[in-house]
Amino acid sequence: MDQTKQDEEYGYDLFPERNKGKFKTGSIAQSLFSFNHKCQVMLHFAMETSPYAKLLLSAMKNSGCKVFKDRHFSCEDCDGTVSGGFDATSSQIVLCQNNIHQQSHMNRVVTHELIHAFDHCRAHVDWFNNYRHLACSEIRAANLSGDCAFSNELARFNFGVKEHHQECVRGRALRSILAVRKISREEAEKIVDEVFSSCFNDHAPFGRIPHSKKDAKFAYRDYENRDRYYANL
Ligand SMILES: [Zn+2]
Repeated sequence: MDQTKQDEEYGYDLFPERNKGKFKTGSIAQSLFSFNHKCQVMLHFAMETSPYAKLLLSAMKNSGCKVFKDRHFSCEDCDGTVSGGFDATSSQIVLCQNNIHQQSHMNRVVTHELIHAFDHCRAHVDWFNNYRHLACSEIRAANLSGDCAFSNELARFNFGVKEHHQECVRGRALRSILAVRKISREEAEKIVDEVFSSCFNDHAPFGRIPHSKKDAKFAYRDYENRDRYYANL
């Protein structure tokens, strides 16, 4: 496969700064610097304060995949409206500094991508050849990151919260797959449906679906306390 085609098939065309080795100069570089600086500050804040991120960072450390801010995250300009991505080749999380402007958005993107990183760490995911693996991790990321939580308040007037959440997770997983792989919508739907129930019910490392920041705080507390009674044996 030639490089351009391969880039497209694996979604690298959405992340033009990946593997380019280019360094921009001049006034653009300065404005990029401020975008970049803001992105770094928001990332740091997410890692220190978001219970979702803290739980995932802790779980990764315990699985032997300690995350380092400078090595495993990269703030970059991205094409289109993508907010982030996980580059399995370099084990790096890309944060789209030109598309993330609010801390709450940063927290969700960091959480979503850390779930992919967690899956990568624990399960040896075959991201490129096995669409079922990719679909499973996208379902888990949409389900557990809070991506589908904040619109619940509005939706509960129309649907049961549970049904809405599931539909939201399914829809988001589909869109994520279609953004990075050149497959048909029908094919993607089939794959998502095949793996949906087992992946939707896999809540590791949260132990529950964190529907709100409060849920995530409880999940984090439980996670931190899980070995407490063995600690002094
Ligand atoms: Zn994703």
